[in-house]
Amino acid sequence: MQNRGIGSWLTTRAATSGDVVALVHGDGEQVTYRELADRAARWAAVLTARGIGRGERIAFLGENQPAFVEVLFGAARVGVVFVPVNTRLAAPEVAYILADSGARLLVHDDRSSAVATEAAGDLPRIVVGADADAALAAVEPAPETPGVGLDDPAAILYTSGTTGRPKGAVLTHGNLTWNALNTIIDADIVSTDVALVISPLFHAASLGMGLLPVLLKGATVVLERAFDAGRALRLIEEHGVTMLSGVPTTYQFMAEHPDWASTDLSTLGKLTCGGSPVPTRVLEAFEARGLSFSQGYGMTETSPGATYLPATRTRAKMGSAGQAHFFTEVRVVGENGEVLEPGEIGEIQVRGPNVTPGYHGNPAATAEAFTPDGWFRTGDLGSFDDEGFLFVADRLKDMIISGGENIYPAEVEDLILGLDEVTGAAVIGIPDERWGETPWAVVTLREGAELTTERLAEHLNGRIARYKIPKNVVVVDELPRTASGKVKKLDLRNRFS
Ligand code: ATP
Ligand code: MG
Repeated sequence: MQNRGIGSWLTTRAATSGDVVALVHGDGEQVTYRELADRAARWAAVLTARGIGRGERIAFLGENQPAFVEVLFGAARVGVVFVPVNTRLAAPEVAYILADSGARLLVHDDRSSAVATEAAGDLPRIVVGADADAALAAVEPAPETPGVGLDDPAAILYTSGTTGRPKGAVLTHGNLTWNALNTIIDADIVSTDVALVISPLFHAASLGMGLLPVLLKGATVVLERAFDAGRALRLIEEHGVTMLSGVPTTYQFMAEHPDWASTDLSTLGKLTCGGSPVPTRVLEAFEARGLSFSQGYGMTETSPGATYLPATRTRAKMGSAGQAHFFTEVRVVGENGEVLEPGEIGEIQVRGPNVTPGYHGNPAATAEAFTPDGWFRTGDLGSFDDEGFLFVADRLKDMIISGGENIYPAEVEDLILGLDEVTGAAVIGIPDERWGETPWAVVTLREGAELTTERLAEHLNGRIARYKIPKNVVVVDELPRTASGKVKKLDLRNRFS
């Protein structure tokens, strides 16, 4: 059986599509598959020369750039585990990840130098650019380490930490391969695709949906350092981008940009949105341009795709996150572990070759995350409809129980965001003697706008059940968010309880 790790992808691509452009950097730099394979093989040699080998970890701290991809594949070639670190973290948070993963080397870019220096301490570092180029020029490309296969760990990705301290999800070569195959099959990726990657690659969504499937297929990736709506629009036109994956805010900023109307978007065929549901008004702005979204549901631990809804079904299945990916199984389970009927809300569980074997160095968290029969407990609530389409309701921990009724904050938040004056909304449960919990809305507003509890109630009345309507509105300057942009509800509950 063919059992080579992802390091083999570039070896094969260099042979079959060596002249094809693999990466275009936002600044115009182009890297072919042959060049990318050579650079990766040199990184592999640099690691070997430093005595870093199979199973050991190295960390990468930097924005999207070819070096990210080179180091990832270079490490994979010799079985070294790649730990991408979120560039928005503060030095102590980075230090935590370096220590927790046991990284032996930190590769970083110039922009991250201050944080890297502070976080790394005595840990050896290589700086992308002249420093790295000199090291690469001084070695010969290294061959793939024989035996590195699908069960070897390839990467450790730290989850964003909405529910506590970040945990390092181990993703094997097999996890990444099967997720890439799931994506190629379900999203119809072809070798002529040009994918624009604007979300940071240190997140599973961007790495697993935006980058890896495209490289496996031998297509082209346009890598943007950081997201800027105006630049993204320009790059779509300039490179004839066919494929784009992002989170709801990415699309919102694009639709609100002054160049939105004048940009030629005719090449765009594949738009994917993940992380949380697309707000209806963003969906409509894109539909007005003849563009519809495919949607996905997933998480770091599933590399990340769990379910997928093709754009052709978005309208018919409004609000659904789709069906299980091709090689993946998804079920909804009740409190006693029983598999629920369509329409019943329970915990979403996932099983398949793209699911992590567990958290790095954390057997307790790993044990807690799986059922005895090997399903991953997502901690998310949802239900299937009669045709097997999943509707994600909310996180188990965010669900509000008021007077015995379940309230799924996401549903209420989407309606609140329909108000023009509201720019951000989080609905949280506040302890209440009579009801157990009552829902409150914490919102951010456009400058000069006001929102009273009465005005919100008026807006929601008749659209949702009375018990779901927030009993209080709190206006804040900013919602506390994780580095990946998710609202930290735990912080809000602590602040207002
Ligand atoms: P932590 O596990 O540390 O709290 P996190 O779960 O936010 O962090 P990620 O793995 O980045 O870290 O996010 C996955 C989560 O995002 C899912 O478990 C789910 O709660 C949410 N999510 C992803 N896709 C969707 C979607 N389409 N609709 C609703 N929620 C989604
Ligand atoms: Mg999670």
